[in-house]
Amino acid sequence: MILEVLKTNHSHDVLVVGAGLSGLRVAIELTDQYDVAVLTKVHPLRSHSVAAQGGINASLNPEDSWESHAFDTVKGSDYLADQDVVEVMTKEASRAVIENEQWGTAFSRTEDGRIAQRPFGGAAYPRTCYAADKTGHNLLHTTFEQALRKGVNFYQEWFVTSLVKSEKRVCGVTAFEIASGEIHGFTAKAVVLATGGFGRVYGHSTNALINTGDGAAMALRAGVPLKDMEFVQFHPTTLVPSSILITEGARGEGGYLVNKEYKRFMDAYASKDMELAPRDIVARAIQTEINEGRGFDDYYVHLDLRHLGKTKILERLPGIREISMFFADVDPIEEPIPVRPGQHYSMGGIHCDKDGVTPLSGLFAVGETACMSVHGANRLGGNSLLETLVFGRLVGQKVGVHVSGLGDVDECIVDDAAFAMRVKIQSILLRESGESHAEIKEELGRIMDNEVGVFRDQTTLESALKAIRFLKERYENIALPRCDTKFNYSLIRALELENLLCLAEVITMTALMRRESRGAHWRLDYGTRDDENFLKHSLVTLVDDYLKTEYIDVDLGQFEVMERKY
Ligand SMILES: Cc1cc2nc3c(=O)[nH]c(=O)nc-3n(C[C@H](O)[C@H](O)[C@H](O)COP(=O)(O)OP(=O)(O)OC[C@H]3O[C@@H](n4cnc5c(N)ncnc54)[C@H](O)[C@@H]3O)c2cc1C
Repeated sequence: MILEVLKTNHSHDVLVVGAGLSGLRVAIELTDQYDVAVLTKVHPLRSHSVAAQGGINASLNPEDSWESHAFDTVKGSDYLADQDVVEVMTKEASRAVIENEQWGTAFSRTEDGRIAQRPFGGAAYPRTCYAADKTGHNLLHTTFEQALRKGVNFYQEWFVTSLVKSEKRVCGVTAFEIASGEIHGFTAKAVVLATGGFGRVYGHSTNALINTGDGAAMALRAGVPLKDMEFVQFHPTTLVPSSILITEGARGEGGYLVNKEYKRFMDAYASKDMELAPRDIVARAIQTEINEGRGFDDYYVHLDLRHLGKTKILERLPGIREISMFFADVDPIEEPIPVRPGQHYSMGGIHCDKDGVTPLSGLFAVGETACMSVHGANRLGGNSLLETLVFGRLVGQKVGVHVSGLGDVDECIVDDAAFAMRVKIQSILLRESGESHAEIKEELGRIMDNEVGVFRDQTTLESALKAIRFLKERYENIALPRCDTKFNYSLIRALELENLLCLAEVITMTALMRRESRGAHWRLDYGTRDDENFLKHSLVTLVDDYLKTEYIDVDLGQFEVMERKY
């Protein structure tokens, strides 16, 4: 069956692509005044935000301060974060947490009834607010409830395929309805991309399978630059063998990392902060132990929680216990958990400022898909949930200012784009034989895990870049097992793979060009930070099918650039 093109039959003031915490928070901000629609490829409550475990940062305690939170964030970022953006986020943090608490989030409590806060890596003070180890689940449910209360329009299980723009501004998107396979055009005065991270570029990742960086890839194709893409966070503790996340909260509650000599090894890498050094440092420490032969079975170490005792584990880490029991057959009350580093978070993303404004008029970005740059070269745990809520609200306000008084866009451009998308998708569906997209994806994951991982060097990066470009050529000949359009998930997986391949190339290219080690980007052949040449953000723009790279300055502020010690 052939995909139908319907005439552009949807028009809204604002389209928000993505129903995770950041997209929902934008929509809540705008719905009272504007006609807003949220498009999402899965039910909102299946967005990856729901999986967040450990918590959200805010300097709630009078002994703590936004300045201390800001300093920890900037130092954690290896000084690549823009300090003006960090200031906004840390000043707004308490407001965001209290707002969600008042909406109903069931935060864990101290004995005297205040919101409980646990220590997290790289933080001078215990400032991570949590709901046991299911913080994202709680936050997303309350935020979704508010979106329903406000009457936000949802297009659920709609897959957005492209941004549509005129010479001067964004005009809308093309999308298909997963149930019917019909391609529709949507016109809007503003589009907000809140599509989450691109973790599935890697094979070993804590991310949901849907985290394929669709928004970032769409933006790149529309000529919008991507920023700092070489900075990929590897979480120190992912479960062996499934790579499911074991929250930093487990170390925050006092868990130990132990090698096969049954020794706590973090004193050799961060003698003061030990297991609670920032993630880049702990991930490298674990990988070094493994590489130097001190890992169990040569590929993992132990996270030992037994000394915390049954009561604490059941109360603070019930989800971690369930995950360990179901997926590794290990009860952390009795035995240590087998863990190794795995991809976790995308520090880079769509280039935008602290209001989410991108270089394309009317296009905004927010949440993990955006690079405002609040995390720089290494994000601190608990700062990402915070980013979604703080900037969701502020970007919503900015979008409101942008669309007020703005005229309608030209529908014809959107109709033409929907037609072009139909031609593209039909050509994939009608191909009778060819490559398997699943095989290409597996190969991509292997290349990225092995050659663009925790440790990198010129030889492996060059080999990865060549291999990715070859996979891109093979992708041109994929054929799908089914050519009908209703609920055709192989078509969706194939379109996602196109996005993953394009982002993998950008990540690897920028990693190759950054000849220094900073935060999560560690080059074995350039083992030190080089502020003189690389205290800069990388920007990659697609110009006439060619990826152009340049560097722009970091916004330095009150915190002086220093050596990072923990
Ligand atoms: C396992 C795990 C645990 C984490 N724990 C923590 C934590 O404790 N603390 C913390 O601060 N951070 C944590 N993080 C990070 C944090 O959860 C995320 O960065 C954040 O929730 C991302 O929110 P978001 O709104 O940007 O995107 P997401 O929640 O990922 O939502 C993306 C949305 O975009 C939609 N979408 C994507 N592509 C398309 C398309 N083509 N068409 C239509 N819709 C599309 C999806 O349907 C989805 O609704 C964790 C991450 C993981 C993976």
